[in-house]
Amino acid sequence: MGENTGRRLLDRVLAGVPEGERPLTHVRDLPDRPATCVPWPEWVPAQLRAAVRRGGVAAPWTHQIEAAEHARAGRHVVVATGTASGKSLAYQLPVATALTEDPRATALYLAPTKALTADQLRSAIALDLPAVRPAGYDGDTPMAERDWVRAHARWVFTNPDMLHRGVLPAHGRWAGFLRRLTYVVVDECHGYRGVFGSHVALLLRRLRRVARRYGADPVFVLASATVSDPAASASRLSGVDCVAVTTDHSPRGARTVALWEPPLLEELAGENGAPVRRSAGAETARILTDLVVEGARTLAFVRSRRGAELTALSARRALSEVDSSLARRVAAYRAGFLPEDRRALEDALLRGELLGVASTNALELGVDIAGLDAVLMAGYPGTLASFWQQAGRAGRAGDAALVVFVARDDPLDTYLVHNPAAVLDKPVEATVLDPTNPYVLAPQLACAAAELPLTPDCLADFGGVHAERVVTDLVADGALRKRPTGWYWTGRDRPHATVDIRGSGGEQIAVVEADSGRMLGTVNPGSACATVHPGAVYLHQGASYVVDELDLDGCLALVHEEDPEWTTSPREVVDISVLTTASRRPAGEVAVCLGEVAVTAQVVGYLRRLPSGAVLDQVPLDLPERTLRTRAVWYTVTEDLLRSAGLGPARVPGALHAAEHAAIGLLPLFASCDRWDIGGVSTALHPDTGAATVFVHDGHPGGAGFADRAFLAFAPWLLATREAIAACECPSGCPSCVQSPKCGNGNEPLDKAGAVAVLSAVLNALAEK
Ligand SMILES: [Zn+2]
Ligand SMILES: [Zn+2]
Repeated sequence: MGENTGRRLLDRVLAGVPEGERPLTHVRDLPDRPATCVPWPEWVPAQLRAAVRRGGVAAPWTHQIEAAEHARAGRHVVVATGTASGKSLAYQLPVATALTEDPRATALYLAPTKALTADQLRSAIALDLPAVRPAGYDGDTPMAERDWVRAHARWVFTNPDMLHRGVLPAHGRWAGFLRRLTYVVVDECHGYRGVFGSHVALLLRRLRRVARRYGADPVFVLASATVSDPAASASRLSGVDCVAVTTDHSPRGARTVALWEPPLLEELAGENGAPVRRSAGAETARILTDLVVEGARTLAFVRSRRGAELTALSARRALSEVDSSLARRVAAYRAGFLPEDRRALEDALLRGELLGVASTNALELGVDIAGLDAVLMAGYPGTLASFWQQAGRAGRAGDAALVVFVARDDPLDTYLVHNPAAVLDKPVEATVLDPTNPYVLAPQLACAAAELPLTPDCLADFGGVHAERVVTDLVADGALRKRPTGWYWTGRDRPHATVDIRGSGGEQIAVVEADSGRMLGTVNPGSACATVHPGAVYLHQGASYVVDELDLDGCLALVHEEDPEWTTSPREVVDISVLTTASRRPAGEVAVCLGEVAVTAQVVGYLRRLPSGAVLDQVPLDLPERTLRTRAVWYTVTEDLLRSAGLGPARVPGALHAAEHAAIGLLPLFASCDRWDIGGVSTALHPDTGAATVFVHDGHPGGAGFADRAFLAFAPWLLATREAIAACECPSGCPSCVQSPKCGNGNEPLDKAGAVAVLSAVLNALAEK
């Protein structure tokens, strides 16, 4: 579309902004980058070179060969470069070469999602190296085919769930494959975070241990988005020391990135009468309309399927007033489409038959759409990795493009549109995981022991003293028995089926459609009261259900399909007590602590909210209390300091509560968690600390590393929190700053100015120290 398309498109969009609104908070032009290529290494067989050339790669980029050379030389490596930088080739070259050279060698490929696994399998099959025999192995693989895969496939494409439940417990049947295991590829490894990441880290240690038993010592090749310190992240995940390849030599088109904050609306009243912004979805639909009129091929990312459909619908409606033929060139795209429907839609967009597509994050992984004229993001996608992955769909070499990030009603989004450096100048956050969490270690060590008896020297690999402590407990519980040759699993059945590596232990609550008896999914018992209470709107693969009944004893939630116009958010009463304090950093009138806590919570009702943000009503519930033992970070503030910050006793609860909400909203920026992975409690006087205290705790039993990360990044985290609150122009608190969609107290009391005062006082005390 010619010179400076990004800027030109932005000017066009700005021309359509109503009088008096100033939504644009920042614009940045990102320059283009030419490609750097290198010759093929001698060791790549001619056959493979030809196959890659047929796929459209004339000469490899420098980083692809750099990573491939490490793997070829037997060094564990992580390649951490941007979207569409050809990371697949970096692992395909060494793996396909090894499998061609040694007719008995094998390799394993792991990805977090089925879509990506299927994509990569297709790409390996397209290499058309008959002796290599790539094959998929997942929950959908028919039984008869599984036997063939075990016996004959040499390059197996699977996921961590199947490795855990299908391969390792039956390793004897995989002996032939494991004996010759040469490479293990771990794709999109930045996706392994939190509890799931901690499980996968231990799963990879189990895989290495079992492979070693058969005499194999595979080389790990990891692929990641650009993250800070990728070598450390990859080493922590894989358990082996990895070298990192981080300089991206793929070509990239210039892009104009615009940060956009929808205006506060006078006519809508949210919770407690607070003002509400025009929704990110509505704003995105308007921008999408303008871009389609300009003929720009535009992809809009919206958080939910319903949101994507509403965005496409309202853009179509607006376009039909301009030109009815344009209205037909806008569509919604979502998870749940059949693969052929998805591909048809992608082709239509790439060819320009479709001009506008609104999508959920389903498009984010494994689908090959790039080179568009514009990308819109309605709300921060949660991590910088996802942000750049989505932004990376815009722009081709030699062609400039536009990226617009539209803030949602949320303190993190507010902070980001007012602090462009936090989005545009920061490496993607390192993944946070904690393989020493006893709630993850215990089931993982039980599985490991059932696979092969545990010996003292293998415990070092599983976390040393942490593992020893957990093994002692497992012996005391009778799950393991100590014999002279090691620790043995005592059960008759293997424990694998009861361990949910994507959850956090305990018996899962099954979510079942009452009419059909179909099981839709499971939820953690710890979060069931909050997510599948009666009346809750439950989303599954983009479809919407309403919960009729929650039977906690029977571990069952019954639902029916229904798509009401509201969403629900639970109301909880929460109490917290300190069990142990692991670290304490005093700073004058302030102290910052990290430790173990018990959080007792009871869901007492829920709120029904319209897509505009307006609150419909609050419905009471009668559900039991539950207690969570986990890790937390907390800070205490003396009465003197609060008073000198201008906060008398009447204002303290609202100030602390507002500061707690915003801090929870901002933590994802520092701990790569989701706002829903963590919780908080604030109180003007806590019995265990004897002072005004704000707690932020992990939402998973034993913690997933989020509280620990918050403790390490404490001052920058609170600084960002204060800036987010100060940047919001609402008079006394709104969802963009201090209100929380998951507040147990109905967002009362909240004191926005008081929160800024508390945070400033705490930051001053820390700075003086
Ligand atoms: Zn506000
Ligand atoms: Zn609250």
